[in-house]
Amino acid sequence: MKARVSQTARDELQCADLTSMERFQAMVLGWYADNARQFVWRTPNPDPFVVLVSETMLQQTQTHRVQQKLSLFLQQFPDFAALAAADNASIIRAWQGMGYNNRALRLRDCARTVLQVHNGVLPADAQALGALPGIGPYTVSAVLSFAFHHDVPVLDVNIRRLYSRVFQRLNTVIDLLSESALQLIARDVFPRGRSSEWHQACMDIAAQFCTARSPRCLLCPVCGSCRSAYQLADAAPVHIQEPSFRGQPNRIWRGRIVELLRGLEPGQELSHDDLRTVLSLRDTLDDAAWIGNLLSALERDGLIRNGPTGICLQS
Ligand code: SF4
Repeated sequence: MKARVSQTARDELQCADLTSMERFQAMVLGWYADNARQFVWRTPNPDPFVVLVSETMLQQTQTHRVQQKLSLFLQQFPDFAALAAADNASIIRAWQGMGYNNRALRLRDCARTVLQVHNGVLPADAQALGALPGIGPYTVSAVLSFAFHHDVPVLDVNIRRLYSRVFQRLNTVIDLLSESALQLIARDVFPRGRSSEWHQACMDIAAQFCTARSPRCLLCPVCGSCRSAYQLADAAPVHIQEPSFRGQPNRIWRGRIVELLRGLEPGQELSHDDLRTVLSLRDTLDDAAWIGNLLSALERDGLIRNGPTGICLQS
C-alpha cells in the first residue's frame, strides 16, 4: 500500500511527503480494521443494484435512516426489472421518509435504461455509468469502487472535508482545499487494490470524528497525521437563500404535500380546498400564486397530478 504523490500535488499543498501520506494510510486502515460501521450495503461482494440504490439514498439522507429504509425498499424492488416496472406513485410511496422524492423517480428511470440498454446488468464502465439518467460523477466513482472494486478515487463532501483538514493546516471549520488540490490528493492517496475499503474508512472517520462543525480531534484516529488537529475555530454560519414561504423553505412544503398524498388510497385525491385548509393558506393573491407555482413544479417533476378539483400522486 505505497502512496504515490505527484510533484504537482506536493507543490500545491507545500506539505505532502511520502512518509506523512503512508502514516495517514496506516492510521486510517488500522482504525477501520477494528471499527468499520456495519451497513446493509457493506458486504465483501455487494450486489451492484444494492450499491446504486444505497448510494442514491445516501445523497442528503443520514446513514441511520438509509439503514432503516433500504431493506424495506429492496423487498419491494429487489432488482432492476422490479424497479423499472414501478409507476411514480408506488416509487414515491416506497421512498417515504427519505426526502427529495425526485431522486426516487430518477433511480427508477435509471433502472429502465439499465434494462433496455444493458440487459438489466449495471455496466462496470465509467462512461456507460455516467450516461445513465440521474447518475453524477460521485455515483459513478462510488459504484465503480464499492460494487466493482475498481481502483478509482471517490470524493464526496465528507472525504473532501477530511482530506482538506488532514493535508493542509486550516483555520476554520468551513475552510476547504481547492478542488484541484483535492482531486490530486484523491487520485494519489488511496492504497491501490483497496479503493473500496479505503473510501468507506474515510467516510466513517469523517462522519464520526471529523464532522462539519464540531471535529472531535481528541478522539480522532488520524489526529497524529492531521495538520488541522485542534486548530479549527468555529465560523459564522453561511446563510444560503432558498425559496421560502412563511419562513420555511419551499422544499419543506413540497415534502409536506407529498407526505399528505402518500397517506391517500390509490386513486383518491386531495381537494384543493382541503389542501389550503391543511396548509393554513389565506384567501389572498399571494398565497394563491405561491401554491399554484409549487403545485406546478411538483407536477413538472413527475411527483403529483394537479387536476381541476384536487391533487394526487402521479401514477
Ligand atoms: S484531528 Fe480533528 S481536524 Fe484532523 S481529521 Fe481528526 S477530527 Fe478532523
